[in-house]
Amino acid sequence: MKIPFSPPYIDDDVINEVTDSLRSGWITTGPKVKALEEETERLLNVQACSAVNSWTSGAILALKWLGLKPTDEVIVPAYTYCATAMAVIEAGGKPVMVDIKEDMTIDEEQIIKAITPNTKAILPVDIGGFPCNYLKIKEIITSTDIIKLFTPTSENQRVLGRIMLLSDSAHSIGAKINSQSVANYTDISVLSFHAVKNITSAEGGIICLNLPAPFDNKELKKWFKVMSLNGQTKDAFAKTQLAGWRYDVVDMGLKINMPDVNAAIALAQIRKYDYLLKERKRVFDRYNSCLQRFKWAILPFQTNKNEEESVKSSLQNPISEIENAYHLYPLRIADISTDQRDRLINMLAEKEIATNVHYIPLPELTVFKKMGFKISDYPIANKTFEHEITLPLYPQLTNEQIDFLLENLIKFHDEIVNK
Ligand SMILES: *Cc1c(COP(=O)(O)O)cnc(C)c1O
Repeated sequence: MKIPFSPPYIDDDVINEVTDSLRSGWITTGPKVKALEEETERLLNVQACSAVNSWTSGAILALKWLGLKPTDEVIVPAYTYCATAMAVIEAGGKPVMVDIKEDMTIDEEQIIKAITPNTKAILPVDIGGFPCNYLKIKEIITSTDIIKLFTPTSENQRVLGRIMLLSDSAHSIGAKINSQSVANYTDISVLSFHAVKNITSAEGGIICLNLPAPFDNKELKKWFKVMSLNGQTKDAFAKTQLAGWRYDVVDMGLKINMPDVNAAIALAQIRKYDYLLKERKRVFDRYNSCLQRFKWAILPFQTNKNEEESVKSSLQNPISEIENAYHLYPLRIADISTDQRDRLINMLAEKEIATNVHYIPLPELTVFKKMGFKISDYPIANKTFEHEITLPLYPQLTNEQIDFLLENLIKFHDEIVNK
C-alpha cells in the first residue's frame, strides 16, 4: 500500500477552475487572484489580503514595508523552515533566533530575554498549523517597558510605535484562537500556498493585513499590490483595458505577483475549506487515538498542563479554545536515538510509506552556522529534532492507509528498541 507524504488535493472542481482560466485567455494576475483574495478575507475575517507568488516573497515585502536597517533585529524561532530567517536577511535585517517550548511554538520567556532597542518585529511560526500564544506575545510587545525601549528607524516603525507582530502562518490557514483566526491577532500574517500546504496554488502566498489605526489596511493593500508588480501602478489586466495603457512606476518594487492560473487551484480548494479541514482532523484524531496508549509516543501540541494554566492565568484575556489547522502530525518518539529514528524512516520507506522530519533546527544548517548560530543555544529545538518523525496528514488519506501505517510504525519501533 503506497502512502505518499503530501500529495496536492486535485479534484474536478480544481481542474475546472484552472481550465476556466486557461480558456478565458487571461492567465496571469487578474480576476482569479482577486476572487482568491476575497475568499481568504472572508475565511479569516480580515479586511485586506494581497496574493503573492510565495510565503517567502510575501514576508520579504511585509518586512520591506516595515523598513529594516542592517542593525534592526527580528526575533524568529530556531525551529522552523529556513525561509522564516532568510526573509529577514533578504529584507535587510538581522534574525535573532530563540528556542521553542515543548509544544514546539516559540518560547515567550525567550522572546522577552531577546528583545533589545533594535528589535523591530517578532516572527513566530504556527508550526504544523498549531497557533502560537499570540495573546501573550501581544501583551509583551505592548507592555510599557518594552514600548519605552522601542527605537524606530523608519517612518512606518515610528507610526506603529512598537514592535510589529508578523506571523509565519505558512501552515496555519484557518487556525483559530477563541474562535478568531490567527490573522486577527497579528499585525501582518503571511500564509503559504506552496504545493504541500493545506491550500495550494502550486507556488504562492498571501499577505493578510491587520495593522492598527492610523494605518488603513484597505489602502495598504493597494501599496502591497503595486509593490508586488515592480512598483507599477497598473497590473497587466488593467493595462489591457481599451486605451488604458498609461501607468507610472512609483517605487522600487519586487516582481512577485501571483498568476491567475495558479490562483485558480487555490480558489477551488479554499471554497471547500471546511470539508478539507474536517478530513485533516479525522486523520489527526485517528493517529492520536491509536498512539496515545504508547508511553514512547509524545503526541503533538499537548501543552504541559501546569505551564498552560500559568500562561492562561497571566493573561487579561485568557485563551479558552485553540483550533488547529492540522497541517502536520509531528510525532516524537521518546525512547529511540536519532540514528534509530532515521532507521525507522528507512524501514517505513521500504514499505512505500513516506514520512518526514520537521525540522532540522536552523542553527544546524550551514548557512546559519556560518553566521555564528550554535545549536547548543537551543536545547529544546535540538531535543525535538532528535526524536521527531512527521506522519503524513492530508484529506485523501484513507482510514485503511492510516491503520496500515500505524501497524508498521508500531512493529518497526518494537523491532528497533528490542534489538
Ligand atoms: C513552506 C514554509 C515557508 C515557505 O513558504 P513558500 O511559500 O515556499 O515560500 C515558510 N515557513 C514555513 C514554516 C513553511 O513551512
